[in-house]
Amino acid sequence: MKRLSILGSTGSIGQSALNVVELYPEAFQVVALAARDNSKLLYEQCQRHKPQLVALLDENAASKLRSQLAGVRVLAGLEGVAEVASHPAIDTVLSSISGAAGLVPTHRAIMAGKNIALANKETLVMGGDLLIPLLQKKGGLLVPVDSEHAALHQCLAGSSSDHVRRLILTASGGPFLKKTSEELKQVSVEEALNHPTWEMGQKITIDSATLMNKGLEVIEAHHLFGFESEEISVLIHPQSIIHSLVEFVDGTMLAQVSITDMRSAILYALSYPERQVSKLPRLDLPSLPDLEFGEPDTNRFPCLRLAYQALAEGQTYPAVLNAANEVAVDLFLRQKIPFTSVPEIIEKTLEIHDPEPVEAIDRLLEVDREARETARKVSEPPY
Ligand code: MG
Repeated sequence: MKRLSILGSTGSIGQSALNVVELYPEAFQVVALAARDNSKLLYEQCQRHKPQLVALLDENAASKLRSQLAGVRVLAGLEGVAEVASHPAIDTVLSSISGAAGLVPTHRAIMAGKNIALANKETLVMGGDLLIPLLQKKGGLLVPVDSEHAALHQCLAGSSSDHVRRLILTASGGPFLKKTSEELKQVSVEEALNHPTWEMGQKITIDSATLMNKGLEVIEAHHLFGFESEEISVLIHPQSIIHSLVEFVDGTMLAQVSITDMRSAILYALSYPERQVSKLPRLDLPSLPDLEFGEPDTNRFPCLRLAYQALAEGQTYPAVLNAANEVAVDLFLRQKIPFTSVPEIIEKTLEIHDPEPVEAIDRLLEVDREARETARKVSEPPY
């Protein structure tokens, strides 16, 4: 029985994870839950899953929940979420709070030696240089939930890195794969939120449309598996059936293939090193559409190029890339800027940045804050 803490339980991944827990009551138990501010849904989740401990980042939402719930400890703020991530009664933490907000609680979970199922890629993008050595020191296990990385984790299992030529991350290409640069200037928030193959939260759906999601995943793959930027490539594959591949030096490729449902990757990560008998739909190969593959176009989608650049330059550049992206995506979602301004804001923010090594969480949070301010200043008009 794995005793779970789910950070971000009211988000898309969190809800899918709770569904997995319901399918396998003999394998998983929910001990703690944390969310940003959705006290209504967290209340319902508490009624259903009976955690010992919950936390909300938003203090007002926490007070409200506290007045409604008897017999459950309700904590508030970042410190409360960090406690949910490191409580002695849990052994596995699903880190699925979206964006930079996941960094501090995930760091705390690693410090406490917990096993981590990681859905929050921003945490590694920002702090991988610090967190991966810390994880090795503290002895916890890190298993990716991101479907591409769960795929690579399986394709790489048991292989020596000397035998690997490159990692190949597949990308659906998002809703704008076929749009011209001119057309991209006019796309609406609604069109950007309409992802062709995956159902996900808003932030990651916009990241998929700009290809920044793939850029962040390249950086995530670097930290998880220890390969350099030139050993990680991206392949457009609109059907999202192959979740990623590994090419070995002898020319062999291994691909991981499964249904397009995040519960599949969540089940893998939470069960590892065991495998559960699937209660989800199975992939029916004869009924699949034709599989297509292509090269990404970094002229139309400069975010991918910027992410590669940030990874190659290292230090705090990836954290700044991430911060500027979060600001730009938020401005786009609020219809303040056009879609094509997202990469422009990120590029300007990176140009201004004065890099330093990633050595401490507190300093990293300052760099993140400063980069957000810069990104707002360089956007037009400044926000
Ligand atoms: Mg992914």
